[in-house]
Amino acid sequence: RIDIAQVSHQFAQLPVLSDVSLQVQPGEFVALLGPSGCGKSTLLRLVAGLEPPRSGHITQDGQPITRPDPSRIVVFQDPTLFPWRTVRDNVALGLQARKVPKAQHARVDEALALVGLSEFADSYPHQLSGGMAQRAALARALVNEPQLLILDEPLGKLDSLTRLTMQAELLKLWQRAGFSVLLVTHDVEEALFLANRVVVFSDRPARTVAELAVDLPYPRHRTQPRFVELRQ
Ligand code: ATP
Ligand code: MG
Repeated sequence: RIDIAQVSHQFAQLPVLSDVSLQVQPGEFVALLGPSGCGKSTLLRLVAGLEPPRSGHITQDGQPITRPDPSRIVVFQDPTLFPWRTVRDNVALGLQARKVPKAQHARVDEALALVGLSEFADSYPHQLSGGMAQRAALARALVNEPQLLILDEPLGKLDSLTRLTMQAELLKLWQRAGFSVLLVTHDVEEALFLANRVVVFSDRPARTVAELAVDLPYPRHRTQPRFVELRQ
């Protein structure tokens, strides 16, 4: 469980977060909406442990978050893959241990299978489409079986058809794996489709102005698009 309690933050004189409190329960899928520049990514960075809040507390299962940890992984809008490494090696870089014993290689292949990239394990990033690269980044995040997946507009740059497919895939992954998700998105439909709870931030400095519980089964009505092969 993630507990964000009365967190405020500023950069120099610029107030960015103002008394934000938010809990993410185990297995919960929380979406965060708010105007551009209000402080959403900043909050995600604090939760990831990339920097400490100026005031307030952020804890994971009661322990203060003080540094990045593989139990809380962030995936950003732009997948950062190393171009000179294969997809499999890029995913293996996500493993917690620096020296990866052979036994762990199976986990890399499992993560690739989970995101549907098994066939591209030996490809290089430039051979992937945007959606596939984002899936590789997701596999790299999932390889350590995180408790919390922190997603900063992960599908924002994808075309709408790929986004639709990836939304359904993300939902399936989440239902199967049982991690919690904290997702920032600009897409209200996406938030309503994916999340149990939608939190809306005000303009900067961000504070919570609305919280909606999403009535099931609303967000689960959409099924994954099926592609039917056309024969000439
Ligand atoms: P968007 O929806 O456009 O991604 P956001 O809600 O994620 O916006 P943030 O990236 O959190 O917004 O930025 C909030 C504010 O903090 C912005 O005004 C930004 O300029 C400022 N800011 C963010 N990071 C820094 C930094 N490292 N140093 C100084 N100011 C920063
Ligand atoms: Mg942002």
